[in-house]
Amino acid sequence: MTMSSPHQTLNTKLLRNLVFPVGDFLFGQKMISRLKFLEAAQYWSPSQIEEQQTADFRKLIRVAYEEVPFYRQLFLEWGIRPEKNLTPADLLRMPVVTKDRLRAAYPQNVTRSTGQKTYEVSTSGSTGKNFHVMEDALTSGYHRAAFLLALEWAGWSMGEPQLQTGITPNRSLDRRLKDWLLGCHYVSAYDLSDSHLDEILNTIEKYHLKHLWGYPGSLYLIAQHAQKRGWNQPLHSVVTWGDMLYPHYRAAIEKTFQTRVTDTYGCSEGFQVSAQCEFGNYHIHALDTLVEFLDEDGQPVSPGQVGSIILTRLHPGPMPLIRYQVGDLGSPSALTSCPCGRNLPMMSSLFGRNTDIIQTPSGNRLIVHFFTGVLEHFTDVESFQVIQDELESITVLIVPTQPALPGLSQAIIKALKDRGAADLEIKVEFVDQIPLQKTGKNRFIISSLKASSGSSSQ
Ligand SMILES: [Zn+2]
Repeated sequence: MTMSSPHQTLNTKLLRNLVFPVGDFLFGQKMISRLKFLEAAQYWSPSQIEEQQTADFRKLIRVAYEEVPFYRQLFLEWGIRPEKNLTPADLLRMPVVTKDRLRAAYPQNVTRSTGQKTYEVSTSGSTGKNFHVMEDALTSGYHRAAFLLALEWAGWSMGEPQLQTGITPNRSLDRRLKDWLLGCHYVSAYDLSDSHLDEILNTIEKYHLKHLWGYPGSLYLIAQHAQKRGWNQPLHSVVTWGDMLYPHYRAAIEKTFQTRVTDTYGCSEGFQVSAQCEFGNYHIHALDTLVEFLDEDGQPVSPGQVGSIILTRLHPGPMPLIRYQVGDLGSPSALTSCPCGRNLPMMSSLFGRNTDIIQTPSGNRLIVHFFTGVLEHFTDVESFQVIQDELESITVLIVPTQPALPGLSQAIIKALKDRGAADLEIKVEFVDQIPLQKTGKNRFIISSLKASSGSSSQ
């Protein structure tokens, strides 16, 4: 956020045709060539898209069968071979793969060598439970390309500066360089107190930013604060990710910033699943990901019904994810065509990634990503839930991966206090399990306090 904006000199064309392609070459990412491919492929005919999916799917199954012991064994058990005529419809013959199964086989039996340097990504996403995946530069380049495509759907052009909220305060050098090139003003979603919200709005004004991206919870609080200040500057794009975008969040943000919100659904395991086009429909990144919605018996649900989301990433990468049960609930779309002209298939919005906001006596607000961002660094934490019944204190329920070591609860309390919960009395309780909500999903924050920021009408 301290670097000055370079965009008087670096325009879209230069970034797309020179700066990033050179970076891609140096880092082995292929981000820009992939983006250009996706920009064209989104308007392919449905049959052309299907053909590409099928070809990639066959390659994926072959690679997984030949190089990844975990899948090879599964395929052998279930009578699946990497045949020439295999199609995505054959997915229904394969078992669903849970995080627990992958976790148990990680890393030896679920990863492969891609010839590139690999690195581990630790994720808890919005699931509140730690999980590791292996990535390489190519996988991450594909992921970013799909995300850049969604940003373009939102009305952003490469090179236009934007403000982003997030939970990675210590960005890597490569990340900071990209931030700078992409015009990213990065602010912490750890601190959403009035004074920090003021600073965020000041930054938007000072740099004449027209794009605001981040977690729905933090953007909602920014919008409410802007309204209180009598904000009257329309933005060009608002993009959300990483959490449930409640209708009242969307309404408040769109009203304040006089632009539509483009909601995206990605998976912190390293790929994009879907994003809204300018007509509000969620198009699936079908060249990257196959999406299924299954009932409890493993059968596809109909449009309008809620199913468990099962993802297959078409690009194998160092850790193929095939029929991966991501832990989200969603619904297939009944729509077969969209006025935007893209032929990428569609899904309905998500359900059951429910969150709330914790308040602190000094006025900070802690969203679910505050807690996942802190707790994912504790390998002894399997899952958690935060409960607030009074303003002064919270209780953090922790399911430990092994009998909790002495000092763990003190370390957790210290980390939370250091990051923005200093004035909260924090009690940590170790439990065997977190009770599930009616949706079958964990709810990570349960607050019985009334929202401090007023006008939230559900
Ligand atoms: Zn569309």
